[in-house]
Amino acid sequence: MPIDPTLPYDDSNIFAKILRREIPCNAVYEDEHALAFHDIAPQAPVHILVIPKKAYVSWDDFSANGSAEEIAGFVRAVGHVAREQGLVVRGYRLLANVGRNGGQEVPHLHVHLFGGGPLGPMLTR
Ligand code: AMP
Repeated sequence: MPIDPTLPYDDSNIFAKILRREIPCNAVYEDEHALAFHDIAPQAPVHILVIPKKAYVSWDDFSANGSAEEIAGFVRAVGHVAREQGLVVRGYRLLANVGRNGGQEVPHLHVHLFGGGPLGPMLTR
């Protein structure tokens, strides 16, 4: 069920639980700003989620309220993961769903990182 991104942060969401180590994840990278882990239901040969360590509901919340250091750290972490996973030469795709029209289901900002093969059209309607 897509979320309402105007609601306050709900720290019972599944990614908050992953950050608190209450539930496991298949992590590929972590630093002070970000945690990256494999999506539990991959939609491409490589499907990794990158999330900020701090509590932001969505890209909208983060871009409006994140500090310059947090935003720079997070963006650098996404790029680092793509390079570390060997995705740069053949290319990859980033996606951040926001709110109902975007189909965002987990109310903690996450960037999907897709790669490992041709990804097809950007949207299927
Ligand atoms: P979105 O629709 O953009 O909110 O995407 C949420 C993503 O989180 C989906 O691709 C799910 O497969 C993924 N997901 C949900 N729970 C977990 C989990 N425990 N570990 C890893 N990925 C998850």
